[in-house]
Amino acid sequence: MRLEHGHCFCGAIEATFEGDPFWICFDHDDDCRRAIGSPLTIWIGYQAAQVNFRRGEPATFSKTRGIVRSFCGTCGTSIGYVDEGLPNEVYICVGFMHAPERFAPEAHGYWELRLPYIVMNDGLPRIETYTRARDPSLGTPRERE
Ligand SMILES: [Zn+2]
Repeated sequence: MRLEHGHCFCGAIEATFEGDPFWICFDHDDDCRRAIGSPLTIWIGYQAAQVNFRRGEPATFSKTRGIVRSFCGTCGTSIGYVDEGLPNEVYICVGFMHAPERFAPEAHGYWELRLPYIVMNDGLPRIETYTRARDPSLGTPRERE
């Protein structure tokens, strides 16, 4: 079975990922942009049971209702997030992966919030909002303060 590894910049946090992710997408959402400090990112979606933290315990932070983000409390590397609206799913930041080149995205999420100078000619589907069917009662980035 496929086994992938991830670690933060300082090495305090390490994880393994068993099997294939079920979804990989670019994300242009402005919440994630600010949380990560990057113009966009790529999220790798795994079922929670596929993710095992082998070393260290990620620190967590929540500002957006339903979303808990994780990061290394020592070096600040963004690790991922979980979403109450997407039960049992864990989204991992591509930069946390040991071999990020193995996770080619399948679509663009929150295309409507992309930065004006981001130009992509990859031919991937451009989804204006969430790429996953999420509990709508939790709101969207547009509805937040
Ligand atoms: Zn670290």
